[in-house]
Amino acid sequence: MNRILEGSFFAGVILTTTLVRAADAVPLSVRIYNYAEVPESVLATAQAEAIRIFLQAGIEVTWLPCAGSDEEFAKSPHKFSDCAQATGAVILRIEPKSLDGQAVSKHSWLAAAQSQRAEVFYDRLRQFAADQDCTPASILALVMAHELGHLLLRGESHSSHGIMVPKFRTQELRCAQKGELLFTPAQAQRMRDFQNLFLTLGRP
Ligand SMILES: [Zn+2]
Repeated sequence: MNRILEGSFFAGVILTTTLVRAADAVPLSVRIYNYAEVPESVLATAQAEAIRIFLQAGIEVTWLPCAGSDEEFAKSPHKFSDCAQATGAVILRIEPKSLDGQAVSKHSWLAAAQSQRAEVFYDRLRQFAADQDCTPASILALVMAHELGHLLLRGESHSSHGIMVPKFRTQELRCAQKGELLFTPAQAQRMRDFQNLFLTLGRP
């Protein structure tokens, strides 16, 4: 269990507020579907870390929890009201299992992103986290931020270093422990430009 990585998330969230003032950040709303039933504490930790990563790039993520079924919505409609009313948000789905062949042909076997929607395959993610001696929350944060990065960067968006590497290796995970696995300044600028354009003209 990687306790250092887990602990750095909370420190990072506090630190970030001093680095980037939210008022200056470009807003990004994300409708999130937790089909994998990731425990709330794990998801909350991952979401907080993803917020920190994006704030470092000058983007303020707002997570909008969405119901996975009509039954779930009926149980607590107030919890999902922001999701139901959201317009212009991108979508992130945490799927319990990957389908055969899904994402294998893409850049990553942990997740996929296309147009306005990203998917994370939690079965693979948990296994990867265990193999790397990391917490699922820490890897979920990185993968969610990476996939949302694809949605905002469009086109070729991988890089040789930072959070947009095609695959997380030991050196990236070591950087993540220190809260230093981030978007490059050029990627941050591209994402802000794209999101600002969307906020003005609408998402393509
Ligand atoms: Zn990728």
